[in-house]
Amino acid sequence: MNLHQMGVAALGRALRDKQVSSTELTQHLLARIADQAPLGAFLATNAEAALAAAQAADAALAAGRGGALTGVPVAHKDIFVTDHARTGLPTTAGSKMLAGYASPFDATVVARLAESGMVTLGKLNCDEFAMGSANENSAFGPVHNPWDPRRVPGGSSGGSAAAVAARLVPAATGTDTGGSIRQPASFCGITGIKPTYGVCSRYGMVAFASSLDQAGPMARSAEDCALLLSAMSGFDPRDATSAERAPQDFHAQMLGTRAGATAAQPLAGLRIGLPQEFFPDGLSADVAAAVRGALAALEGLGATLVDVSLPRTELSIPVYYLIAPAEASSNLGRFDGVKFGHRAAQHADLLDMYKKTRAEGFGPEVKRRIMIGTYVLSHGYYDAYYLQAQKLRRMIADDFQACFQRCDLIAGPVAPTVAWALGQQRAPLQDYLADIFTLPGSLAGLPGMSVPAGFGEGGMPVGLQLIGNYFDEGRLLHTAHALQQATDFHTRAPAGF
Ligand code: GLN
Repeated sequence: MNLHQMGVAALGRALRDKQVSSTELTQHLLARIADQAPLGAFLATNAEAALAAAQAADAALAAGRGGALTGVPVAHKDIFVTDHARTGLPTTAGSKMLAGYASPFDATVVARLAESGMVTLGKLNCDEFAMGSANENSAFGPVHNPWDPRRVPGGSSGGSAAAVAARLVPAATGTDTGGSIRQPASFCGITGIKPTYGVCSRYGMVAFASSLDQAGPMARSAEDCALLLSAMSGFDPRDATSAERAPQDFHAQMLGTRAGATAAQPLAGLRIGLPQEFFPDGLSADVAAAVRGALAALEGLGATLVDVSLPRTELSIPVYYLIAPAEASSNLGRFDGVKFGHRAAQHADLLDMYKKTRAEGFGPEVKRRIMIGTYVLSHGYYDAYYLQAQKLRRMIADDFQACFQRCDLIAGPVAPTVAWALGQQRAPLQDYLADIFTLPGSLAGLPGMSVPAGFGEGGMPVGLQLIGNYFDEGRLLHTAHALQQATDFHTRAPAGF
């Protein structure tokens, strides 16, 4: 058995069949993580706590109490707080501001995956406070893309995507505010789903833009994502925007049969909308070709492609880059050196302490966003910027509803290009513009996925984006799973991994 090549579902079965123990699996992956330290994917591991959790899982498995995830390793984006006493792991949010911070509790998503028997291997690198598209805004160094170490893994969940692609862990958590699960999944050739806003609890997720932040799984297949999402989602009274719904079995929904489906045409009757704005002239030819190829495969499985329009797609960029910084400027007010995190060593008085703490603790992108956000919320500019952006946000959401009158799912590219070169010092605006295809769905609060669709320039992976209507994760996963039964892009590993 090649343990690190196996996915979540296969490992769960092997563990229940006693072909491998969780302890053995955990040791194997921890050694692999140590060997692959130059990738920069992990910020912290704790062998003692991981092996204790693995032993507990092995005891449950021995007693016949193992579920689908019991004993399967996972790692968390370092934006989720992890109880330091339980896991021995710090929580940094990729920021110097929280370097060495020991959380006294677990995020709900972390707690639920632990309760399902998953073994936490460690914390994954990410852009500082999840602000970025390349993981280069992390205070703890960049992450290298396993497909080409000279390229970025995407962001902000870059460590999660790289770790899963490099077979260091079969699945990871990520968060997506404006594309941070989908874009790194696309850049690293893995599968990721951002659920409908409210499906996963935000409790214990270090807040960036609260009206947009959403957690989700990143793994190597739709099936593995479905297994994790079932365990990590669900109503949480500790998150005021948590959706009040019964627990969902996304794996069963993924396996379900569509009315009218046949073995050869499992997607018969499915209408997939292609917004013309998602295929602009500026879309790179390699990405367009891979996405068209995946769409042809979906057609071959019985789906029908229909032309739709999301006329405010371009406006999503200014709307998001006003609303997200506005919320961030408010959320990040708590990092003032008083209650937790970094505190400047030298200061004259309280105000000076605040100023120096924040000047020292935050990186340049975070400071830029705090300043933009403070400006657009200020008296005199609020109506012109923030309020206007909120109105447009509503219109963007309405555009999607008009599309869903004519189709069941929407498809397009995740990003306009494959992963770019590391260390280029791109202008911030260049990165913001590259978010064009993920921001509309985020602003509308809709679920979205990235599914491996092929390879482009330099042999780099390309992701197909699928966007569903509210709470339609089951259909997204079903469609992605059908595609993965017919194609093998998701099974390919980068050379040397
Ligand atoms: N790239 C976007 C940003 O920098 C999205 C980040 C995210 O989804 N966390 O804000």
